[in-house]
Amino acid sequence: MRIVLLGPPGCGKGTQAQRLCAREKVVHVSTGDLLRAAVAGGTPLGLKAKPIMDAGRLVPDDLVVDLVRERIARPDAAAGFLLDGFPRTIPQADALDVALGRNGVQVVVYYVLGDEEIVRRSLGRGRSDDTEPVIRERLRVYRAQTEPLVARYRKAGLLEEVDASGTMEQVEVATKAAVARRAAGSGR
Ligand code: ADP
Repeated sequence: MRIVLLGPPGCGKGTQAQRLCAREKVVHVSTGDLLRAAVAGGTPLGLKAKPIMDAGRLVPDDLVVDLVRERIARPDAAAGFLLDGFPRTIPQADALDVALGRNGVQVVVYYVLGDEEIVRRSLGRGRSDDTEPVIRERLRVYRAQTEPLVARYRKAGLLEEVDASGTMEQVEVATKAAVARRAAGSGR
């Protein structure tokens, strides 16, 4: 399967991504994790990305697109992958379509969660970029840059909406059901 997880920062995507990948035997591609690894490794990409991430902004599209393109071209991704945190902008979605060609995305799971719950959960996470002003900035950027992807994927008939306000287990069950509907429909 080729799966995209879409939803506001701090909605629990990362947790769901890990569980889903273990179950579906697909590669987990988290741009947040890849970027944090670049920052920790002090690579040129990491040096560029760090101040942007610390401010809650988006790393430039070309850098993130290169990262994802390289990752999904590796042999272990041939059997399927799950994109977590990508695409986050319309140009990123365009680049993904071009990169995948005929073997495009099969399902976009869209997590719905209100702002106050997002802030509450993110504050509980304790990551260095999880101060309240940065969280609010990430949310603003999400609404402006990423949310337009919802309409795009809905129009393409790929969107599966999941209520992210429940427990991790409830959201996991709903996610599994959403992916299973698509797997059945597309014959994998
Ligand atoms: P969250 O879990 O809060 O949604 P992520 O771990 O996905 O955050 O990403 C952390 C930071 O990495 C983002 O705030 C952003 O600065 C950067 N980032 C991650 N993915 C992308 C992307 N697709 N495009 C641009 N920047 C990204």
